[in-house]
Amino acid sequence: MNIVEIRNIVIDYKLKKYSLRAVDNVDFDIAAGKITALVGESGSGKTTIASSLLNCISSPGQIVSGSVTFKDGEREIRVESLDENSLNAFRWEKISMVFQGAQSALNPVVTIFNQFYETMLVHENYKPKDSRVKITKEAAEKRVRYLLDFVNLDADRVMAAYPHELSGGMKQRVMIAFSLLLDPSLIILDEPTTALDVITQDFIFRLLRKINRETGVAMLLLTHDISVVAKYADYVGVMYGGRLMEYGAVEDVFRDKLHPYTRGLINSTPAINKDVSLLKPIGGEPPNLLDMPSGCKFHPRCPYCREECKTIEPETFSKENGHKIKCFLYSDGEDKCRI
Ligand code: SF4
Repeated sequence: MNIVEIRNIVIDYKLKKYSLRAVDNVDFDIAAGKITALVGESGSGKTTIASSLLNCISSPGQIVSGSVTFKDGEREIRVESLDENSLNAFRWEKISMVFQGAQSALNPVVTIFNQFYETMLVHENYKPKDSRVKITKEAAEKRVRYLLDFVNLDADRVMAAYPHELSGGMKQRVMIAFSLLLDPSLIILDEPTTALDVITQDFIFRLLRKINRETGVAMLLLTHDISVVAKYADYVGVMYGGRLMEYGAVEDVFRDKLHPYTRGLINSTPAINKDVSLLKPIGGEPPNLLDMPSGCKFHPRCPYCREECKTIEPETFSKENGHKIKCFLYSDGEDKCRI
């Protein structure tokens, strides 16, 4: 079952003299209760897509076409059609987001507890008058204590603390607890361990997986680190130049490594049991969104590039198991799905 369906979404940043296409015709699902990762280099469009789920793309970005549908039980919510009031209620109650550099998202002059409490009060006000429930400070304390315990923080100490009194890893766990505050069905995590040391990074990812498995909340994880995807995600989409190059269950994508870009990412990732001299970096540079290559956007870097790749952009080809690949090498059908 899917919690979000993204269909053929196109997102442009309209500047004075030109328009920049950050996401082009991207189509994928986010499964309920699972961890879906979007992996790709900076500028590949991951954050822009994630922002479209909350209809909060930074100006001057806008959805030009396509749709984002959130499934709330039997009800379907078209996110791009929500008015401002409905959006305010939707954000955080249905989908919450831990932004990149989340540690600076906390208000430096308000205690952690008060930041949680204010959010609860504000969201109560978005509800219709006849369905509002007065949130007492005691009830809020109970909820915040539970969440901080859940992310392995000392609730007594943290609730009374100001952000500067907490370490980077603690602040990140506070933000994760914050994202769970209103019991959303999906949490978006944009590079959730940036600026943390590797031990804390591993701790945070294990914690996220525990939260996912124990609460059933779906997660959309944005990362440039493919090894994190292999270890913690259930589904993965590989982004390049605003396109979804490959999408599927993690075990299928990592076993088959069908798209040349995915293969390049995996082959260039160091591992503790891998001889570093065997690592193969992907040659060339990521594409410039202001001057995108013609045809397949990966063709200037692709070792399998054919003539047609230089002028025609490939369609996305789907296998029966839901594995999708945007590459001409797979245009001939299921039996030829091998390089
Ligand atoms: Fe490489 Fe061509 Fe496939 Fe693009 S379409 S990834 S250039 S083989």
